[in-house]
Amino acid sequence: MSVALVTGGSRGIGRATAILLAQSGYKVVVNYLQNKQAADEVVSIIRAHSGEAIAIKADIADELQVMAMFVEIDNAFGPVTALVNNAGILFQQSTVEELTAERINRVMATNVTGYFLCCREAVKRMALRHGGNGGAIVNVSSAASRLGAPGEYVDYAASKGAVDSLTIGLSLEVAAQGIRVNGVRPGLIYTDIHASGGEAGRVDRVKDLLPMKRGGQPEEVAEAIVWLLSEKASYVTGSFLDLAGGK
Ligand code: NAD
Repeated sequence: MSVALVTGGSRGIGRATAILLAQSGYKVVVNYLQNKQAADEVVSIIRAHSGEAIAIKADIADELQVMAMFVEIDNAFGPVTALVNNAGILFQQSTVEELTAERINRVMATNVTGYFLCCREAVKRMALRHGGNGGAIVNVSSAASRLGAPGEYVDYAASKGAVDSLTIGLSLEVAAQGIRVNGVRPGLIYTDIHASGGEAGRVDRVKDLLPMKRGGQPEEVAEAIVWLLSEKASYVTGSFLDLAGGK
């Protein structure tokens, strides 16, 4: 059976993806940073529908915690066959002149180093599986990687640009091992990340600027992620799906 790890799976896009993956037959690992109750709730929802899931606490920016998480998954479900690099952070809107090294480093540690570390541990296992035949990774990037988020979150946009480059480079590096690596670039999605970044109503404030005149739902992103992981996308690698209402 396929084993999926969703980082930051306790809420938002990660939560919707974890639930949809379970519905699609995966054993699901719900990684979380702090909110055990929210992660346990996702696990309960999956189990209530006869799925299999566990929650594992780990800071994806911490190398030892990431390595320990993958060993825990090996022992509980067997090696990961599907990775959703989803956990990400965003800070308050700022101009570049206001950015501190501490903030930039924190954004990069989670959004870039964290993705790298999880990719590394997943690829080690996927390459070994069936003599190197199988596995898929989806990196959750952002429309910001294309748009740059000027005057708002250039640090965040740059971190997502790095995610895009990681996706392209890794997809080429592991293609011959039967591992596919793709990305999704959500635009404005109704999740708590905006409140964490200091503006709870951001999606509603700017949604009329989008061609589709609405924000997206986490479930709409989850559908794309689950498709990219699935055998239906068996010839797709190094690609990106934009889920951004046309912008
Ligand atoms: P969210 O804040 O609801 O979810 C992010 C999750 O990541 C949270 O559960 C958080 O606890 C977790 N997390 C943060 N740092 C972590 C760490 N170091 N280790 C483990 N977990 C950690 O936001 P979301 O919108 O669901 O975001 C999911 C992904 O989608 C992020 O990568 C985000 O950048 C991306 N994204 C979101 C939007 C949007 O509009 N919501 C748009 C583009 C991209």
